[in-house]
Amino acid sequence: MTRIAFIGLGNMGAGMAANQAKAGHVVQAFDLSATALDRARASGCIVASSAVKAVEDAEVVITMLPAGAHVREVFANAVIPNVPRGALLIDCSTIDVDSARAVGAQAEAAGLAFADAPVSGGIAAAEGGQLTFMVGCETELFSSVEAALAPMAKAIIHAGEVGSGQAAKICNNMVLGVSMLAVCEGFALAERLGLAPDKFFDIASKSSGQCWSLTSYCPWPGIGPSSPSDRGYEGGFLTALMLKDLKLAQEAAARAGGATPLGALAEAQYALFERLGYGAKDFSAVLQLLRGRLDALNSQEAS
Ligand code: NAD
Repeated sequence: MTRIAFIGLGNMGAGMAANQAKAGHVVQAFDLSATALDRARASGCIVASSAVKAVEDAEVVITMLPAGAHVREVFANAVIPNVPRGALLIDCSTIDVDSARAVGAQAEAAGLAFADAPVSGGIAAAEGGQLTFMVGCETELFSSVEAALAPMAKAIIHAGEVGSGQAAKICNNMVLGVSMLAVCEGFALAERLGLAPDKFFDIASKSSGQCWSLTSYCPWPGIGPSSPSDRGYEGGFLTALMLKDLKLAQEAAARAGGATPLGALAEAQYALFERLGYGAKDFSAVLQLLRGRLDALNSQEAS
């Protein structure tokens, strides 16, 4: 039984904190939203009146916040000054590599152990304890981080030093964004050429066009294993979140001097799709933009 402070109980954090409570840990939970706090109480967490109160007796602190600015603010003002020395600090949010490294350096200066541990998997995986964690921390710390994350995880992988978890996350999602656009372009051109989408799927999934975006998450409704395209592109991985990760990848590339021309194109394409009002749709819905069939998306008749 561990005393855990959990800060950030939104779409992802709610299920993650609930799984820690279910595993028998004492979870002091805090969020700025009263609705989030009510949900945390109902799932077995103890509601704290502030982030400072949540951390003041904690052995492990876990955060799941929207972006780098929130993480920097919460760690600088609430967590690092108030948590007992010896506590383990883990940020699971998706943020920029520089913010993760800056928070890690502040924690280290205060004598605290820190890991960045962003996740792959959406809300259902968070609720089901089936997330994949990509961890950036000192090698000696990894086994403690692994133990702390276990109730929320399907897999926990050590990526390298602090910041490496975020690097792995944004590189993976840049590949995903680019590969989904390539698959969607393939479907859109196949349609123009009079090739039936199910035939294109059958052939490409057994040929060199095969990839996860095609065979596990097919953007064309009614083809391949069940995916958000079969549910009107509801749920899944939101376009707005894909755009966030592509922006993080471009910012990181600019700072590190990396050449990511396809990542830049993917960011521009998803920015356009979001501007057209589809930020809350699954990212595979971009197929309908490339087909010139946004009308089908609006009427939910995507095929
Ligand atoms: P969310 O917006 O639903 O939740 C964030 C929560 O943080 C909100 O409840 C908000 O009130 C709270 N918050 C903000 N500032 C706070 C503060 N100062 N103190 C306490 N609470 C504060 O976001 P989410 O979908 O749960 O995503 C969280 C993180 O996980 C993001 O970085 C996101 O990119 C990443 N992520 C999300 C998904 C997904 O499918 N939703 C998948 C993988 C990774």
